[in-house]
Amino acid sequence: MDEISLKALAKINLGLDVLGKREDGYHEVRMIMQTIHLYDRVEIKKTKSPHIHVETNLFYLPSDENNLVYKAAKLMKTEFKIKEGVRITLQKFIPVAAGMAGGSSDAAAVLVGMNRMFNLGLKQSRLMELGLKLGADVPFCVMRGTALAEGIGEKLTALPPMPKCPILIAKPAISVSTKRVYEQLRLTEMTEHPRIDLLIENLKKKNLKGIAENMGNILETVTEKEFPVIREIKRLMKENGALGAMMTGSGPAVFGIYHNEKEIRKAYDALKQSGLAKNVYTSDIHNNRR
Ligand code: ATP
Repeated sequence: MDEISLKALAKINLGLDVLGKREDGYHEVRMIMQTIHLYDRVEIKKTKSPHIHVETNLFYLPSDENNLVYKAAKLMKTEFKIKEGVRITLQKFIPVAAGMAGGSSDAAAVLVGMNRMFNLGLKQSRLMELGLKLGADVPFCVMRGTALAEGIGEKLTALPPMPKCPILIAKPAISVSTKRVYEQLRLTEMTEHPRIDLLIENLKKKNLKGIAENMGNILETVTEKEFPVIREIKRLMKENGALGAMMTGSGPAVFGIYHNEKEIRKAYDALKQSGLAKNVYTSDIHNNRR
């Protein structure tokens, strides 16, 4: 096999809680991760020359060692003493720096792709271990589906699949620094935390309404204050039939969960017309694990 083409799927958080700050500066989290069917396309070609070459359709993304796909390829080359090189073509569709793990998913695709291409025979658990060296969300992007993520996000427990439903995603034209959001989080002032256990119960019961009603993201306390547009998008989604709407990760992307296609179409049009979000996408739940 000299070339391979993979989908790198995005994630949303159905729940995101922060429990505290560890001595090493990382935050202890409790999150419900869900893969969705919005994806980047990652093509990998084997080359005789030993170099890693990255091309992407977004001019503002790095194509050098700062791109996560480059880092993933380098890690595989070093770890398994691969002599050949790779040419990676990355077509981005997942909004960048939005809280949807786009870069992490691209990196996971390279790990999975190179494992197949070079016949390394690595198990998924080994790919997940390698992924953690690249970022806390990468192991989940290797695994996919629905999962509880604890620790810094790397301790994963598979959960029952989320009931299928259409999802609306809106990315406002603002940029949010994940680092800053965590720094500004005032955990000691929090009287309420997202109800992660109730979310898990509702996933077990396959109760979509129960899931939507119990979604919560503690990081919204920071981002909504700074960017009221996030609250406005959530309100507009709910006014247009969303069972629930929430910011994913550290934002600024917001998603809404809908009953059916008819409702989501109406909400899509309303969002487009409102001008609140630069990019609006429709998607759905992807439950298959790798
Ligand atoms: P997360 O949900 O894990 O916080 P995110 O959606 O906030 O991820 P990404 O889109 O993964 O963020 O990328 C954040 C930054 O990483 C970007 O500003 C970009 O410069 C850099 N980056 C490096 N490689 C990639 C890549 N393959 N795709 C997107 N961004 C990348």
